[in-house]
Amino acid sequence: MRKVAIIGSGIAGLATSIRLALKDYDVSVFEANTYLGGKLSSIEKEGFTFDTGPSLFTAPENIEALFSLAKKDITNYFTYRDLDESCRYFFANGKKIIAKKNVEAFANEAEKVFGEPADNIKKYLQNSNKAYQNIGELFLDFPLDSSLITKSETYKALFSVKFPYITKSLNSYNESSFKTPEMIQLFNRFATYNGSNPYKAPAMLSMISSLEQSQGTFYPNGGMISIIKALVQLAKEIGVKFHTNSKVEKIETFKNTVTGVLVNGKKYEADIVVSNMDIYYTYKNLLSDNKFAHKVLKQERSSSAFIFYWGIDTTFSELGLHNIFFSEDYKKEFQHIFEESILPDEPTVYVNVTSKFDKNQAPNNSENWFVMVNAPAHNDHNWEEQKEKIKRFIIKQLNKQLNTNLEDHIVVEETLSPLNIQEKTASFMGSLYGTSSNSKMAAFFRQQNRSKHYKNLHFCGGSVHPGGGIPLCFKCAKLVADDIH
Ligand SMILES: Cc1cc2nc3c(=O)[nH]c(=O)nc-3n(C[C@H](O)[C@H](O)[C@H](O)COP(=O)(O)OP(=O)(O)OC[C@H]3O[C@@H](n4cnc5c(N)ncnc54)[C@H](O)[C@@H]3O)c2cc1C
Repeated sequence: MRKVAIIGSGIAGLATSIRLALKDYDVSVFEANTYLGGKLSSIEKEGFTFDTGPSLFTAPENIEALFSLAKKDITNYFTYRDLDESCRYFFANGKKIIAKKNVEAFANEAEKVFGEPADNIKKYLQNSNKAYQNIGELFLDFPLDSSLITKSETYKALFSVKFPYITKSLNSYNESSFKTPEMIQLFNRFATYNGSNPYKAPAMLSMISSLEQSQGTFYPNGGMISIIKALVQLAKEIGVKFHTNSKVEKIETFKNTVTGVLVNGKKYEADIVVSNMDIYYTYKNLLSDNKFAHKVLKQERSSSAFIFYWGIDTTFSELGLHNIFFSEDYKKEFQHIFEESILPDEPTVYVNVTSKFDKNQAPNNSENWFVMVNAPAHNDHNWEEQKEKIKRFIIKQLNKQLNTNLEDHIVVEETLSPLNIQEKTASFMGSLYGTSSNSKMAAFFRQQNRSKHYKNLHFCGGSVHPGGGIPLCFKCAKLVADDIH
C-alpha cells in the first residue's frame, strides 16, 4: 500500500484524503490545529453557535460525489435544504430586493423595483450559464498544464463564449448589460466570491452568478460545520488517519523526490505528499524555497475580511439567511481594499443568520449574526484600532436600514481579523481565496496541482488551481487524486 501524507485538513485536504483512501492508499492527514476543517470551523458562546468561515453553500453535487464513490447513503451523514431565495439585497438608496431562485420571479421583481428590463437579467443569466457550461467546467475539471492549452476543446470553448467575457472587466461588462446602477452593483458583487475586484477582474467571473442564481443555493442542516463533520466521519470509516496538533515542519526530499514529512521533530515516511496549506508557506516554510515563494507573490492576493460574530437578543423578520447591505460608492470600496490596502470607510456589510433555519443555534427569540465586511489582505494593519471604527459604521448602517438600535441588542461578541485568519489557518496575509483574479490571465498563473520540481509532491486547496471557495476545493481534490492514481 502506498503511503500518502496530507498536510492540512481543509475542505480540499479532507476530500483528497477520501478519494485516495477509496483507491486503497494508506492516508494520514497532519493538521496543525487542534480541530479539523481549516477555514471552515465554528464556535459556540453563551448559547449562540456561529460558523466562523464560509457561509454560502453551492454545488452540493461535489460532496454527494464522495459519498456515492464510497457507496454510502449521504443522508446518514449530511442533509441540506434547497433555498428558494439566494440573498436579500438592501441598497444605500433604501430600495431592496429578495433574489428569488426562480429567475422569472427575480427578473420581474427587479423590473418593478428598479426599472431594469426583466429580459436583461434573463439574457445575462442565460449567457452566464452557457459560458459556465462551455468554459467553466472545462477549466475547473482539468489540470492546469500544457494539455489544457493544447486541447482542441479549449479553443472551441473560448470561441463559444462572447468576446467581452475575455476583453472586458466584470464591471464594464455589467454596465453594458444592465441599465440600472442597482443591477450593475448586484452583479459586480460576484467578483468578491473569489476575493477579486469587479473593476479589474475579467467578465468571465459573471459565470459565478449562474452557479448561484440559476443552479441555486443550499443550507446544510446544522450549519456549514456539518460539511466537515460528514467528511471526517466518512474519512475515518474508510481508514484515513488524522493527527491533530501536528504541525508539519518540513517536506523531506531525497534527490528531488519526496520521502515524507517532519512533524514535531519526527519523520513520517511517505511515498506521496499532498500539501493542502497555502502554497506560499508550502514553498517558504516546508521546502525553504524562497525563489518559488517569491514567484507566488507576483500575483496579487485575494481580499480578506473583518468579521463580527454577534449574539442578538431579538429577531428581525426583514432578514433572511444571506443579507447584503450595499455601500453607496462600490468603486471606492474596492479602491480602498486593493489599491490603498485600507479597510473601506463605508463598506458593504454582509449579514448571515443561520438561526433563521437552525433554531438551536441561538437562544429563544434571539439570532446568531455573522457580520462581515471585505478587507484588504493583512499587511502591517492595526486591526484592534480599526475594530471600533468599523463597528460604529456597521451599526449606523444597519440601524438606518432596519430601523433599530442594534447597540442595545448585541449580547455576545467575537471578532476575526485578517491577521487572525492568517494565524488560525496559515493563509498568507489572511487572504480568503489565495490569489485574486484581478487580471485577465490570473486563472492561468495559479500554481498547478503537481510540483514540477519534486517528484510525488502535489498541491490542493484554495491557493492553487482551480482556486478558492468550497466548490473549487472539492474539484481540486478530484484533480489531485486522479493525477496521483
Ligand atoms: C471568513 C471566510 C468566509 C468565506 N466564505 C466563503 C463562502 O461563503 N463560500 C465558499 O465557498 N468559500 C468561502 N470562503 C473560502 C473557503 O473557506 C476556502 O476557500 C476553503 O475553505 C479553503 O479550504 P482549503 O482546502 O484550501 O484549506 P484551508 O481551509 O485553508 O485549510 C488549510 C489547513 O492547513 C493547515 N495547515 C497549515 N499549515 C500547516 C502545517 N505546517 N502543518 C499542518 N497543517 C497545516 C491549517 O491549519 C488549515 O487547517 C471563506 C473563507 C473565509 C475565511
